[in-house]
Amino acid sequence: MTQFTDLGLATPLLRALQAEGYTQPTPIQAQAIPYLMQGRDLLGIAQTGTGKTAAFALPILHRLAANPKKAARRTCRALVLSPTRELASQIADSFRSYGRHLNMKVAVIFGGVKYGAQIKALEAGIDVLVATPGRLIDHLQQNTCQLHETEIFVLDEADQMLDLGFLVPIRKIVGKLPAARQNLFFSATMPSEIGKLAGELLKDPAKVSITPAATTVDKVEQTLLYVEALRKRALLAELFAEKALSRVIVFTRTKRGADKVARYLEACGVGAAAIHGDKSQGQRERALAAFKAGACRALVATDIAARGIDVDGVTHVINYELPNVPEAYVHRIGRTARAGATGVAISLCSDDERALLKDIQKATRQTIPSFDRRNDKVLAQATAVAEALAPPAEKSRGHDDGEQRANRDGAGRQANRKRRPQHRPGGHSAPKSGGEGRGAGGGSRNPGRGRGEGGGKVITSGSWSPLDAK
Ligand code: AMP
Repeated sequence: MTQFTDLGLATPLLRALQAEGYTQPTPIQAQAIPYLMQGRDLLGIAQTGTGKTAAFALPILHRLAANPKKAARRTCRALVLSPTRELASQIADSFRSYGRHLNMKVAVIFGGVKYGAQIKALEAGIDVLVATPGRLIDHLQQNTCQLHETEIFVLDEADQMLDLGFLVPIRKIVGKLPAARQNLFFSATMPSEIGKLAGELLKDPAKVSITPAATTVDKVEQTLLYVEALRKRALLAELFAEKALSRVIVFTRTKRGADKVARYLEACGVGAAAIHGDKSQGQRERALAAFKAGACRALVATDIAARGIDVDGVTHVINYELPNVPEAYVHRIGRTARAGATGVAISLCSDDERALLKDIQKATRQTIPSFDRRNDKVLAQATAVAEALAPPAEKSRGHDDGEQRANRDGAGRQANRKRRPQHRPGGHSAPKSGGEGRGAGGGSRNPGRGRGEGGGKVITSGSWSPLDAK
């Protein structure tokens, strides 16, 4: 098996890798690094979680160090374009840590923050610049950054760039690069527009394709819970009653949904922070830092905000809502099971999400083991309690009119009146239901009562606990 020492990387890089605790290159590193060291263009089909960042950062640092020269004012020797601020920051951090013995100037620029510090950093000349496209265009227009001396260009997460509408800015940026340069192009998927862009950018590229979809999916213990849309909140609280859910990313489809779920979890006594595109840079950084430090158990995120987030030890991913595109499912569950660890993904699926589920199962060529929590009395009661915990503004608006319907539910109304003060997340809120112990679903596990829509195991009513996913 290839070792880092077989790849011809400079000694200071090998020392840094040792300090990182990396013993062996991941498949994308073993395959891509030799081509990149030769100065070849590269087309990489890979997503985050595969070790992709080091696969390009190491040979870039090696090549820059092999030809030492000071970057001219306002220029950068290597440019990495990243779709999101979080990913840009992480990539820059990786360059800094792998290049710690090389004395490289690494800078990151993205929108949502002031220009001053960025202008100052660019003014000095940069070895490795990591940027999001919009803010880089601003700097190019203001002439605070110039790209005519850039030797290596990396376009990361190209498919995500397309989703975010960055293709026009990218073409503008590419137009400012010198003709003689090395190009690296990474994308998790290859829709036709991305294939076209790759064709325009790359010259005789080496091709490396890592299919983490299967491997990531394989390493994650997946469970699907069928549940009524209006009872998802109660089910979420029930899940969090399990201590095993110690570092959890909860995914929602919308920004507003992320805020609502985070506020609800807080109201349940579960420390939670939301992260999405409407948050300021400071808010995002604080949320991520709190989650990384273990100060909050839950990070509630939208797909785009979570793209590329690299937090070790995520115990569970909860898909509070299924994503609109199947690829996002794979990306989401890949937030757990990082770097060889195993993880658990729990997806809540309401009737209106069946088409999305079908797409996911088709794309991942699997049937997710499922449990049916519909028509579950315990959840009906807990739903009413969940409504009591909803922040006032949401109560009056109604939660996608779910809670209003919940309140028309007789059992729910009764539970609501009786138990509001005692509620704690999980089955503890429903003391008479027999649902205590292992969350509201504390009954015995009873596989094989039937087959779910997906053909997986089905357990009806209240008989599943997150610990069962282990
Ligand atoms: P990436 O795909 O670049 O987001 O990397 C995913 C995770 O794997 C990050 O936490 C890296 O620090 C880690 N990683 C990258 N390369 C290696 C390696 N060769 N050995 C162990 N962990 C690695």
